Amino acid sequence: MAIGTQCLTWFEGRWHEGNTRILGAADHGAWLGTMVFDGARAFDGVIPDLDLHCERVVRSAEVMGLKAPMVAGEIADLIRAGVQRLSSERALYLRPMIWSREGSVSLIDPLPESTQLAVCIEDLPLREPGPYALTMSPYRRPSADSALNEAKASCHYANNARVVREARGRGFNNGLSLDQQGNVAETASTNVFVVRDGVVMTPVANGTFLNGITRQRIIALLRDDGVRVEERSLATEDVAAADEMFLTGNAAKVTPVTRFEGRDLAGTEFGMRARALYWDYARQVRKAA
Ligand code: PMP
Repeated sequence: MAIGTQCLTWFEGRWHEGNTRILGAADHGAWLGTMVFDGARAFDGVIPDLDLHCERVVRSAEVMGLKAPMVAGEIADLIRAGVQRLSSERALYLRPMIWSREGSVSLIDPLPESTQLAVCIEDLPLREPGPYALTMSPYRRPSADSALNEAKASCHYANNARVVREARGRGFNNGLSLDQQGNVAETASTNVFVVRDGVVMTPVANGTFLNGITRQRIIALLRDDGVRVEERSLATEDVAAADEMFLTGNAAKVTPVTRFEGRDLAGTEFGMRARALYWDYARQVRKAA
């Protein structure tokens, strides 16, 4: 499935137009789901935090027992070359992917040296702020000893998919999951921030959810701008009492939430401020480049 109208894929040493076939039926990654990936964005001539996304895909591969076939800097260079080659006016989704071709003697665990890499670049609009409804999901995040949560792995997204499917079925855009201890964790596709009495709070990274690159960037930008940001354990009651909420993730960067369960939220001031700070940051990166 190509999500964009344009699709460029690097695989086995060269660029291919379109939705290139990268897996064989007997490939270990296809059979046992060792695929890891990352997602970065190119828009308005910038690719914010590309280095961090490439470092994370290499780390994800290692967590999965794979040996990344390139170092992060080489993957970043490849992605920059692909963006130039596509030379699109549209916002792009940049996705390096790493998986195993072969299993080891046990068949279950991957043979680290059989690792493959592809980079897929597609156009995908950046979602503009608008009505966005969030609900608590009945589905939780696995604990750190039951899933490879530190890896951004495709296999996690089966659970995330049912989170979003269930939420959409009840008329919401996304669902917010708890971890096994009952702490607020993340949505199916983003990290979450809540605002109460001018203080911004977000779940402290505890190994049960993705400690997002956008999350970390927004925490730093808000703090530099004089906002009090607390990373702490949050309970459902903290979310229920929020004046505001916003979500962060590479795909849309910052998304203010306008409704939580049946309640319209008071405003989007902090979400919009975080968004403006992110775009200022991205523009500075362009100037410095
Ligand atoms: N949580 C999940 C489940 C995600 O899919 C994403 C998007 N990658 C995030 C959080 C946000 O992470 P990042 O800011 O690094 O994109």
